Amino acid sequence: ARKKLSRLKKTPTVTIDGTPVALLANIEFPDDCTVALENGATGIGLFRSEFLFMGRSGSISKIPSEEEQFEAYKKAVTLMKGRPVTIRTLDIGADKPIGTPESGTLNPALGKRAIRYCLAEPDLFLAQLRAILRASAFGPVKLMIPMLVHAFEIDQTLALIEEAKSQLRAANRKFDEAIKIGAMVEVPAAILGLPMFTSRLDFISIGTNDLIQYTLAIDRVDPEVAHLYNPLHPAILSMLSMTIWAAGKAGIPVSVCGEVAGDPHLTRLLLGMGLREFSMHPAQLLNVKQEILASDLKVLKPKVDKILVLVEEDAIEKAVNDLQLDEA
Ligand code: PEP
Ligand code: MG
Repeated sequence: ARKKLSRLKKTPTVTIDGTPVALLANIEFPDDCTVALENGATGIGLFRSEFLFMGRSGSISKIPSEEEQFEAYKKAVTLMKGRPVTIRTLDIGADKPIGTPESGTLNPALGKRAIRYCLAEPDLFLAQLRAILRASAFGPVKLMIPMLVHAFEIDQTLALIEEAKSQLRAANRKFDEAIKIGAMVEVPAAILGLPMFTSRLDFISIGTNDLIQYTLAIDRVDPEVAHLYNPLHPAILSMLSMTIWAAGKAGIPVSVCGEVAGDPHLTRLLLGMGLREFSMHPAQLLNVKQEILASDLKVLKPKVDKILVLVEEDAIEKAVNDLQLDEA
């Protein structure tokens, strides 16, 4: 089946009714760009930069210098040959442990992780921001911030990005002055307070892995509760459709970059909610493309509207499966 799918690599991703959809890749290292391109990605929707900081133990073991980071980001940008590369700033803590004694807190998922860590370590953060900005001189780069909750965190982050830019100007370093800055939306508070984001940022990307964890209060890495982790919980569907709708209304691009985006069983549901940008593990790209090519939004939209008013998980699951069985 993979062999056949590979024929879709160069086919433009358009629904039956002619709506274009962006299929982007999630990567951990610059070399992953090669696999992304082999699978027809038209850009990188999520470069998980923390992997440059993590050792074999899976925890933060080394802090790469600005220069090392710059080389890694530039490599990804160069490999993507003019396609957009969305670089997410350091997302450590919780499932990606920091490895310091204080990271052994009782609830690391609710602790000093991601942007909270970076704002507490401005020198480390500024070095990363400079490295990302410098890479933007070599092709289209977007900057993405994880785990934002408060407006003041967004403002502090934007101020630090400005500071990194002035440092580069002072050093005569080139970068894209108009670089797009966006946020991961991955906490219910971010969705319920979405105007804080849409009024300050250029784009948003929904991180369903964490959003499901924080909405359903289920540790995403705890096997004891894995059976309760359900993307089709009505609360999750509400959050997704609300966010896609609100971003559209605010006129800013929205993507989904959690695992949900790479699940071909959920492609039609997301399309029917209005999603037009999917970012996923490269291995899933052609499976999802196949679904999109066989989908007709005119048929899907009313069916998905009906699913969005269902409140029982069983009924939702059945209706989502039925979307798959249809010709369109
Ligand atoms: C997410 O939370 O959905 C996401 C894409 O980021 P990560 O899995 O790296 O936390
Ligand atoms: Mg996340």
